[in-house]
Amino acid sequence: MRVAVIGGGIAGLAAAFELEKAREAGADVEYTLFESRERLGGSLASETVNGIVLERGPDSFLSEKQAGAELCRELGLADQLTPSNDANRKTYIVVKNRLVPLPDGLMFLIPTKLVPTALSGLFSPTTKIRMALELLHPPRPSGQDESVAALVLRHFGQEAVDRLADPLLSGIYGGDSTQLSARTVLPKLVEMESQYGSLTRGMLAAHRQMRAMMAARNASANGAGGTQGQGGQRAGGGQASGPRSIFTTLQGGLQQLVDALEARLDPAWVRKSTAVKLVERIGDGWRIQCAGSDENFDAVIVASPAWAAGGLLAATDAGLGDELSAIPYSSSITVNLVFDEAQLGKLPDGFGFLVPAVEGRAMLACTFVHRKFLGRTPTGKAILRAFLGGAKNEALLDQSDEVLVATVRRELSEILGARVMGPHIPAEATQVSRWRRAMAQYAVGHQERMKRVKERLATLPGLRLAGNAYDGIGIPDCIRTGRQAARELMAEKRAAVSSR
Ligand SMILES: Cc1cc2nc3c(=O)[nH]c(=O)nc-3n(C[C@H](O)[C@H](O)[C@H](O)COP(=O)(O)OP(=O)(O)OC[C@H]3O[C@@H](n4cnc5c(N)ncnc54)[C@H](O)[C@@H]3O)c2cc1C
Repeated sequence: MRVAVIGGGIAGLAAAFELEKAREAGADVEYTLFESRERLGGSLASETVNGIVLERGPDSFLSEKQAGAELCRELGLADQLTPSNDANRKTYIVVKNRLVPLPDGLMFLIPTKLVPTALSGLFSPTTKIRMALELLHPPRPSGQDESVAALVLRHFGQEAVDRLADPLLSGIYGGDSTQLSARTVLPKLVEMESQYGSLTRGMLAAHRQMRAMMAARNASANGAGGTQGQGGQRAGGGQASGPRSIFTTLQGGLQQLVDALEARLDPAWVRKSTAVKLVERIGDGWRIQCAGSDENFDAVIVASPAWAAGGLLAATDAGLGDELSAIPYSSSITVNLVFDEAQLGKLPDGFGFLVPAVEGRAMLACTFVHRKFLGRTPTGKAILRAFLGGAKNEALLDQSDEVLVATVRRELSEILGARVMGPHIPAEATQVSRWRRAMAQYAVGHQERMKRVKERLATLPGLRLAGNAYDGIGIPDCIRTGRQAARELMAEKRAAVSSR
């Protein structure tokens, strides 16, 4: 079977890796990976400047989702897995230029601890009363999809939308909570609302269940003489039990994952700087058109962004093309600033802060990278990584690097104070990266769209989609969808052969 993989981001790379593994295990499979850019990796791109790892795109992945660390281990990167420094995991929200810590006990946007919420400077007394009364919210059958903002507004009021939902989600999706689908982005909350009414009660019940499960698991591990889980944090869930860090990265940056994947693929089957122009159904197979060449394949995995996939597939199935092209995307910018730590004033404890849109700033978030991942940044250096743009501020992408760095420095100085981060403190290195239409937005109605997409795909054997537009935006989700697409195509092929 010959498979074309279109797009060499993490999803396409994971798909090609799965095919390569099957080939090594003796399966009759060949693949060609087409990537329009000169390099593989898509949004994953790290650079090491004077021994300092700077991430242009994502800086880590959620440890809870196994597909990320699992792939790293398969590629021999187990010793490079680096946990986030959760002991110091404190995040602030900017409220009128002040940094206010997120209250303890916040789970999936939901405040679950009465005292920290009551004492928090994040909310006004009116919102706090509303949060307490939320416990009485009656159950609501899950009907039509709605935006995250509408769900949070109904339970906790506008201030919770502005100071919690919006900044937390724009930090993840570069998105707008009034557009994002509650059913896709926060499915647990939608379920809880229909079962418990109150999201706080639902979250507390879920927390109790989880604790009981962990206690049962620990009891059975101890009964079996197990001592796992006593050793503190482990990156990416190296063992089945024990505490796991929230985020995992790689010691040398996420580029290590891209490089390790590329090293496993047959270079003769990887075509960089080769943009696919059209994907056509020809007989039982597929024709891939690139500039100046046509090639036939038995199957195709389209792992480009959905807006590109829509154009590529429009001639084969106009309805599918329209559905994919209609998935919105947001753009973003990262600005990394490296400082000599001794020249900065004292940064607040923690990983960094989020900036609500209502603050009217260019920055959406800032991470203190040297604090988030210990032992990766050389001692004495500080890395501040700002995240800008997002669905509400795309125009920033047209600004020059100088203007963007100056904007970030001004805003950091206003938020952290001139003594901590004043304009007189020289940055040792700066790095600006623009990501145009890189983050899919799961807009209201996304699940229904996915149902229609699946119906169209069912009529097109040998075609699969992978990537951040469909079933999870994070790196582990993209890896999962890439590998799954490859496995499904091989199973489809086996089924076709055995039915002959
Ligand atoms: C700034 C930023 C920060 C992020 N932070 C995190 C984070 O901390 N943790 C996390 O888990 N996720 C994060 N994400 C999200 C995550 O990185 C992405 O969702 C994921 O990397 C997307 O992978 P992908 O393979 O689906 O798409 P992409 O990385 O976009 O790859 C698609 C590839 O397809 C290629 N392509 C497009 N058209 C064609 C064509 N016609 N022919 C051939 N090739 C084509 C593109 O050049 C690209 O290389 C972040 C994203 C960004 C942009």
